[in-house]
Amino acid sequence: MNKTKYQPVIGLEVHVELKTKSKMFCGCSAQYFGKEPNTHVCPVCLGLPGALPVPNNKAMEWCVMIGLALNCKIPLVSKFDRKNYFYPDLPKGYQISQYDEPIARNGSLKLKIKNEKLKNNLEKTIRIRRVHLEEDTAKLIHQFGNQKSKIKNQKYEEFSLIDFNRSGVPLVEIVSEPDFESALEVVEYLKKLQQIVRYLDVSNADMEKGEMRLEPNISLREISNVKFQIINYKVEVKNINSFRFVEKAIDYELKRQEELLKREETPVQETRGWDENKQKTISQRSKEEAHDYRYFPEPDIPPVHWTGNQISNIKNQIEELPSEKLERFKKEYGLNDYDAEILTRDKTTADYFEEAVKIGAGHMIAPKQIANVVINKKIDISSTLPAHLITQIASSKQTATLSDEALEKIITQIVDENPKAVEDYKKGKSNALMFLVGQVIRKYPKKIDAGGLRERMEKMLQ
Ligand SMILES: [Zn+2]
Repeated sequence: MNKTKYQPVIGLEVHVELKTKSKMFCGCSAQYFGKEPNTHVCPVCLGLPGALPVPNNKAMEWCVMIGLALNCKIPLVSKFDRKNYFYPDLPKGYQISQYDEPIARNGSLKLKIKNEKLKNNLEKTIRIRRVHLEEDTAKLIHQFGNQKSKIKNQKYEEFSLIDFNRSGVPLVEIVSEPDFESALEVVEYLKKLQQIVRYLDVSNADMEKGEMRLEPNISLREISNVKFQIINYKVEVKNINSFRFVEKAIDYELKRQEELLKREETPVQETRGWDENKQKTISQRSKEEAHDYRYFPEPDIPPVHWTGNQISNIKNQIEELPSEKLERFKKEYGLNDYDAEILTRDKTTADYFEEAVKIGAGHMIAPKQIANVVINKKIDISSTLPAHLITQIASSKQTATLSDEALEKIITQIVDENPKAVEDYKKGKSNALMFLVGQVIRKYPKKIDAGGLRERMEKMLQ
């Protein structure tokens, strides 16, 4: 067995479904989740002959927006192409996608990678090769003999059902350069990407609903003393729909490939799938080369032209992004990295916090104190208005002022005025103490914690 060391080389393709009202090239509703199969369809998304696609402007603008948020260049011209392949989820025999002139290219995304050893975060920039727009495919539901059929009176044991509701839903594909060196980095990037499209409000990116789908491509390269060995294979793992699965699939692949390489075998260039039950990747088909798709320009859709003005208008619609918000929260509210990160994780929480800070300023409540309450989930922000939260914090603040001088004075006064009760208490009548506590509470102008007061008076009288 050789002792060569290997370095992981991982790239990522991410598909994100846009939440536009209508589909990419027709007027059908794109909100298909949970709907009766084949009810959101028309000749265009069924791929009937002669039907003409008309691009969805909103989807194109949103794709530009994602590109800008990922620091991409937006070429003023781009075009759609036909990607030809034969599969039942694609009734036309091709998918309308973008080949050599995507909507956005050459971007980047900065990550903070936690380093357990150094106990700090390392910054790493992932290059983004391109962001393009395409149509989603129909959904196949495979029915095998050993499963219970969903259809009454069906005569066949094994068959596939097809639902065209998803066919033609706008899909953005974000392709990274192979800059990842571990599954951890990939997951960090995915979380960031999901957060950005949610902040932009262009996709819910809900993985369980298939609104965000992941395809890592994984290879290992030999680290020699002289230089890196050239990689001559790439394994792609298709359609993963959870961060946890992507992590497991990458770790599994790295191990599998390393074992092959150590035996001096080259892993096969292929597409694999993650099998959660077996906890391994499984070979699906050998990888198509780009020319297998016989890309050519879509003749029914003219090239897309943007003016500089249109691009800057779209840019102006982009609100503060998570990383900018995080930095501002640190500066403006004096929060540490950890608190600012949690508060900006989703926009709803960030907005809630800022609203509460605004109201809290009038009550002398510090942002840090509000951050603590929100972060420690002492309240449910979905059911408590920011103003109500501030009232709660303000009143608990008053409760906590047992040590103030005014209280001291009142206690002394009550004790002096009630020598009989004090004597009774010293003789062992606990009711007498409760009477004294009650007197103090009645006299004290603010709300006060009775338990704490009782303890305090107990000590004083002993
Ligand atoms: Zn349609």
